[in-house]
Amino acid sequence: MKHNDLLKIAKTYGDPVYVYDSEKIISQYKRLTNAFKNVNQLRLNYAVKALSNINILKLMNSLGSGLDTVSIQEVKLGLLAGYKPESIIFTPNGVSLEEIEEAAALGVNINIDNLSILEQFGGKHPDIPVCIRINPHVMAGGNSNISVGHIDSKFGISIHQIPHLLRIVELTKMNINGIHMHTGSDILDIDVFLYASEILFETAKNFKNLEFIDFGSGFKVPYKTGDIETNIEELGKKLGSRFTAFCKEYGRDLTLAFEPGKFLVSEAGHFLAKVNVVKQTTSTVFASVDSGFNHLIRPMLYGASHEIVNISNTGGKERYYSVVGYICETDTFASNRRINEIAEGDILCFKNAGAYCFTMASNYNSRFRPAEVLWHEGRAILIRERETFDDLIRNQVDLKDLFVPKKEKVHQD
Ligand SMILES: *Cc1c(COP(=O)(O)O)cnc(C)c1O
Repeated sequence: MKHNDLLKIAKTYGDPVYVYDSEKIISQYKRLTNAFKNVNQLRLNYAVKALSNINILKLMNSLGSGLDTVSIQEVKLGLLAGYKPESIIFTPNGVSLEEIEEAAALGVNINIDNLSILEQFGGKHPDIPVCIRINPHVMAGGNSNISVGHIDSKFGISIHQIPHLLRIVELTKMNINGIHMHTGSDILDIDVFLYASEILFETAKNFKNLEFIDFGSGFKVPYKTGDIETNIEELGKKLGSRFTAFCKEYGRDLTLAFEPGKFLVSEAGHFLAKVNVVKQTTSTVFASVDSGFNHLIRPMLYGASHEIVNISNTGGKERYYSVVGYICETDTFASNRRINEIAEGDILCFKNAGAYCFTMASNYNSRFRPAEVLWHEGRAILIRERETFDDLIRNQVDLKDLFVPKKEKVHQD
């Protein structure tokens, strides 16, 4: 997106504001489907939790995507956005049997990631097909917060528990229609991913009625220049041909499924915030924006490095800045970052703000969550209004008469 268009959006819709470029989402979707064009049946289920605005879900639907959901609320959002239940998969972790039953009643695909629920669900609903989430115990990526396939992870059914799993399936006579893994958020090494896939293929041989194998996600996108990104094209070639060979061995064409979130929406997002104060201290220059981890928590939560551009002064001399927020707590977006000279009132653009940014926003410090704008075919369209004071107090129950202000003492002489 052009900086001028972003500046105009900040002027029209106010700041801070999230802006999503539909063209980038579409091109990422096409890039992924293209990389796997050697596979007979490919299914992309967009991970709703990355960015859940209903218009983004509708855009994905128009591209032919399915949905990956992790809560009953995400399932309902998907249905509201017009998805058919069969193109939604429910992949929760640690939710109640009741929530899974509610999703099953809505007709969506169920993915179960623990033996306790598998046994209970299979005992009650042997007729409803179920996908199982396997933990292949493979480390993907370096950050243990976003690697969910390793031995200590709470996700998935351990491959060492396959015998117990098979016993449950046999006793309940349930039907397993899919095998799933989601090893982590960053696939840096394709060979590690292929290694995990082999474990999945091996597991798949135990089930006769599979319709799909779901390889989850973990596609890495670059956050700054020089960052490694997953080589999708190479992955497509290698995994695609291995998958086709497996289908031959299995005796039937299966669907290869993925659940990309970050890959589809991260780079499409821009977060715009205004600089309130430029503050020189004895050690650095702070640029404080009208935002904080209430709007964009990834730098503080994961140590994520979002590129920051001063779109009000792109030709300005580069200086070192610490970009911080206005929250009454440490909320550093970036330290010692070279940015074109910043003046108070300038608009800073945080890149890669499409995935896990707005969806993780909160009302901390009683601030409003920002507006969201879609940039589509050369025009800006508001897709979420900025919150107002009414939104902040909507669910608060005001006990009007319970507490009364302390009366001032009246002194009488
Ligand atoms: C979060 C999540 C995804 C998406 O991961 P990305 O790194 O955003 O692509 C996919 N599958 C499951 C089960 C998830 O929980």
